[in-house]
Amino acid sequence: MSRKPTTNGRATTASEAPADLLVVGGGVAGLFAALCAASDAHVLVLAKGPLLASTSSLAQGGIAAAVGEDDSPVLHAEDTLRTGRGLSRPSAVAALTGEAPARIRDLVELGVEFDADLGLEGGHGRRRVVHAGGAATGDRVARRLAELVLEHPRIEVAEGERMRALWTNGDRCVGVVTERRPLPARATLLATGGAAALWQRTTNPPGAVGDGIAAAYRAGAAVADLELTQFHPTALVDSSLLLSEALRGEGALLLDEHGERFTDELAPRDVVAREIDARGTALLDLREIDRARFPGLMGRLAEQGFDPAATPIPVAPAAHYTVGGIVTDLGGRTELAGLYAAGECAATGVHGANRLASNSLLECLVFGRRAALAALGEPGLPARLPDPAPAAPDEPVTPELRAALWRDCGLARDGAGLERLLEAPHLLTRLTAECALVREESRGAHFRVDFPAEDGAFERHVVLRRGAEPVLEAWR
Ligand SMILES: Cc1cc2nc3c(=O)[nH]c(=O)nc-3n(C[C@H](O)[C@H](O)[C@H](O)COP(=O)(O)OP(=O)(O)OC[C@H]3O[C@@H](n4cnc5c(N)ncnc54)[C@H](O)[C@@H]3O)c2cc1C
Repeated sequence: MSRKPTTNGRATTASEAPADLLVVGGGVAGLFAALCAASDAHVLVLAKGPLLASTSSLAQGGIAAAVGEDDSPVLHAEDTLRTGRGLSRPSAVAALTGEAPARIRDLVELGVEFDADLGLEGGHGRRRVVHAGGAATGDRVARRLAELVLEHPRIEVAEGERMRALWTNGDRCVGVVTERRPLPARATLLATGGAAALWQRTTNPPGAVGDGIAAAYRAGAAVADLELTQFHPTALVDSSLLLSEALRGEGALLLDEHGERFTDELAPRDVVAREIDARGTALLDLREIDRARFPGLMGRLAEQGFDPAATPIPVAPAAHYTVGGIVTDLGGRTELAGLYAAGECAATGVHGANRLASNSLLECLVFGRRAALAALGEPGLPARLPDPAPAAPDEPVTPELRAALWRDCGLARDGAGLERLLEAPHLLTRLTAECALVREESRGAHFRVDFPAEDGAFERHVVLRRGAEPVLEAWR
C-alpha cells in the first residue's frame, strides 16, 4: 500500500468531471462508504493526513454485533438504549443493532480476519465484541479497507489534503474547498471523525478536532448534542495511550491508592470515569488477567517502562469520543441538500447520551453504508457553479484552548465555566459550550455540578442552527 501522500496515481482537478461522491475522511466510515458506493459511482476520498493516521486505526476493543449463539439484535439494542440514558433514537438503534451481523459478514468477505472468540465490554450483557489481532481491531480493519480503496478502479484518493470549507450553491452543497483547490461533487459525505483532541487530555490523534462539524455548521447544516463528549476512564497517566475496556472485560481491576477496589469495573463509562476523576487517578491491576491476549498493549506499556505483571498501572480519564455532531437522518442526510455525514462526526441520535463500548466502529459501517447508498440518489450538478465563497480563517487549536476545555467543559462542568468558553476564539468550542449550557441537567456523558440530577424535560437533543436559538428536539 502506498504510504505517501498521493492522489492515487491520477491527479483530480476542479476542471475534471465532478465526483459522484466526494468522501471527506479516510477512517473506517469514509473508507467503507467509498467501497459501498464505488460499484455504481466514481468516488473521490480526501484525507488531511495519511489514510492510516485516523482515529479508526487506534480502535482497540473491537466491533459490537450480536453474532453469538446466546445473543440477538434485540438484546444488543436493549444494552445500547440503557447506556444511552433515555436519549437514544430508537429507529437508529434498531438499524445499528439489526444490521450489525451483516456488516461483520461484509468485512469477512472483504478479507478482514477476526479472532475466534467474542470479547465482553462494559455495558454489554453478552460477549458480543468481535476483534482482530487482540486489541488491534481498528488497525486491521482500516488497513484492509484502505488496501481495497487504493486498488479500486473507480476510487481516487487524495491523502494529505485538507478540506477548509464546504462549497455551496444557494442551499445545496456542491463540493468542498481544500487548501489547494475547489473540488465539485454531486454528493459530499463528511466522515471527518470527532473532536476529542480539542481537550487537553485525550486518547485521540491530534487531527481529531471536529473540522467537518464546524464546516457543516458554517455551511448551514444543523449540529446537535456537542455537550456529550465521552471521557474514557482508563488512559495511561501522562500519555494518550488507552488501556482498553476489554482489559476490564477480562477481569482487570481498578484499585485506589490503598489497593482497594472502589467501583464496578464494567459499569458504564461515564460512571467509571467520574469515579476515577473524583480521586484524580486510579491503578489498573492487570496482574491476574491473560495478558498474552493483548500483545500490542503490553508492548506499548513495556516501552513506557511499566511491568504489568508486577505492578498495577496508573490511569486517569481522557476525552475520547464525540457523541454529538452533524444532525443526520438514518440515510446520513444532513439539513443541507447534497451533504451527508457518517461516523463519529454525525449525530444520528444512536448513542443517546452515552455510547456503548464498541458501537462506534459499528456505527461507521452501518451508517457509512447507508449514507453512501442514499448519496448516490443525488441529482447531477448544474452546468455552471458559482465561485466558492472564501473559507473562514483557520482557528488554531492552542494549548490554552485545550486547557480551557479541560477545565471548563471536562468531566464535571458548571454554568460559570461554560459561560467563559462562549468567549473562546474557536467556533466549535463556543458551540460545545452553548449545548452544555442548554442542558441544565446531568445525563450520560454530561455532568453539570450545578444540575446534578437527570431531568425528564431534557429527554431531548440540543440542536443548533446558524442564526437561530438552540432548540430541544425529540428524535424517533
Ligand atoms: C484509542 C481509541 C480506541 C478506540 N477503540 C474503539 C473500539 O474498540 N471500538 C469502537 O467501536 N470504537 C473505538 N474507538 C472509537 C472509534 O475508533 C472512532 O469513533 C471511529 O474510528 C471514528 O471513525 P471515523 O471514520 O468516523 O473517523 P476517523 O477514524 O477519525 O477518521 C476521520 C478522517 O477524516 C479526516 N479528516 C478530518 N478532518 C479533515 C479535513 N478537514 N480534511 C480532510 N480530511 C479530514 C482524517 O484525516 C481521517 O482520515 C476508539 C477510539 C480511540 C481514540
